[in-house]
Amino acid sequence: MNEIHCKLLVVGAGPGGYVCAIRAGQLGVDTVIVEEAKAGGTCLNVGCIPSKALIHVAEEFDKISAYSNGTPLGIRVEKPQIDLAATIAWKNGIIGRLNSGVQGLLRKAKVKIVNGHARFRDGKTVEVETETGLQIIHAATVVIATGSVPLELPGLPFGGNVISSTEALSLSEVPRHLAVVGGGYIGLELGTAFAKLGSRVTIVEATQKILPQYDAELTKPLAERLEKIGVRIVVDAKAKSMAKDRNALVIEREGAEEIIDVDKVLVTVGRRARLEGWGLEELDLEMNGRAIRIDEQCRTSMRGIYAVGDVTGEPMLAHRAMAQGAMVAEITAGLRRRWEVRCIPAICFTDPEIVSAGLSPQEARAQGLEINQGQFPFHANGRAMTMQAEDGFVRVVCRADNHLILGIQAVGTGVSELSASFAEAIEMGARLEDIAGTIHAHPTRSEAFQEAAMKALGHALHS
Ligand code: FAD
Ligand code: NAD
Repeated sequence: MNEIHCKLLVVGAGPGGYVCAIRAGQLGVDTVIVEEAKAGGTCLNVGCIPSKALIHVAEEFDKISAYSNGTPLGIRVEKPQIDLAATIAWKNGIIGRLNSGVQGLLRKAKVKIVNGHARFRDGKTVEVETETGLQIIHAATVVIATGSVPLELPGLPFGGNVISSTEALSLSEVPRHLAVVGGGYIGLELGTAFAKLGSRVTIVEATQKILPQYDAELTKPLAERLEKIGVRIVVDAKAKSMAKDRNALVIEREGAEEIIDVDKVLVTVGRRARLEGWGLEELDLEMNGRAIRIDEQCRTSMRGIYAVGDVTGEPMLAHRAMAQGAMVAEITAGLRRRWEVRCIPAICFTDPEIVSAGLSPQEARAQGLEINQGQFPFHANGRAMTMQAEDGFVRVVCRADNHLILGIQAVGTGVSELSASFAEAIEMGARLEDIAGTIHAHPTRSEAFQEAAMKALGHALHS
């Protein structure tokens, strides 16, 4: 039987695991990574990257479709057609390039890659079922980075026409009628994309509004746009099951049942840590609800075992997983590191996009802070006008006493690219005066950030 001894073993090569392994390798730590599927994990293969590829295609198709109905821009085009199979092939090409890229980076960092399913025997030993037999790996330090899986609803198990985001990202035809259960990140991103590609989309959300974690002001431009592109939103409603006699979804709203005819039902009601199948029962880990409990160094309750990424719970975001992975690698290499981030920016890649970094006004007030805020609309921004992207705004939230920026939110076309400026401002402890006094190039939509800071100071120039 093959046996390997290493300093660091990483289980799972998603953004948390592969970044941890690369960084450890760069620092000279003798590292092994085990992956049962493809390098890059959920994010690269069935998450962030394929969803953004599909969203891009849908946006292009929607734009050209709109142009074919006539445009004030002076552009004349014929009605476009979509070949979804070709779209998916293009998307798979991007994934393939990134898969090889991640493997190349691991090799460059001298990380040993073992392909197969890993299972813990104890806290220092893992067995891997590989194509060539059982591989035993002994490690001084182990990182659990097994990620997450989609939540299933008891009345709507996955299979047939009831699909998760994974299947939705590889359909060969655009469904005529798509019901999306769950108006959160995935439901809205993919629901919008399919609506733009021609599906009749109904979004069924259990709470009183879509994206319940964001305030109504932030989600209003999105709700208006969804209505414009013909998406039906049903809130305060729960999906129950498929109808017995026809291809239809049964939902319950205000105590009554409604039946919605569908081709496919996409269930996006959240994700949960992947805790099964890898020997959790052989370990003695403290849990935090249904996720692995970690401290500010991503240490679990067992010495020498760390956990990073979605398996440690919310927020389940790729950039959080990567930052945790890099930190754990550096700790393993003997560096003094702990989790000291002030904000993890979150983006919903809808139309318009929504960005949130740091505290919302409601969250700041709930912490007992006295705040000021300034909001600047894109309809007063010259660049936004020239790009027909006037919906939305940037909002800055700061402490009333010393103007320290606590949070920045934005909704608008392309605001995802402002997220780095927002996070940098918060991490660097910027005050309103720092942002107001920074020259923002003209004409750009980033000027709305500077103007929002000026507005909070009481002297926006352009509104
Ligand atoms: P994962 O990426 O889930 O990787 C875990 C890896 O471990 C997998 O490759 C799995 O095969 C492997 N593994 C598990 N068990 C074993 C085992 N026993 N043996 C061997 N290998 C194993 N986040 C964002 O920040 N931005 C986005 O735009 C975004 N879009 C998303 C869109 C969709 C449709 C989905 C589903 C998710 C999206 N996310 C997004 C979330 C993001 O994908 C996750 O937060 C991220 O992938 C978590 O990384 P991870 O390393 O913790 O786990
Ligand atoms: P989510 O938590 O964002 O949204 C789930 C939604 O489903 C919620 O609004 C909830 O109220 C609703 N819901 C729950 N049960 C329901 C029911 N029975 N009927 C109707 N509605 C119901 O979850 P998600 O969209 O599945 O995404 C999972 C995770 O993936 C997110 O938490 C996020 O961390 C990550 N993600 C991030 C991005 C991004 O960063 N752009 C994109 C996609 C996914």
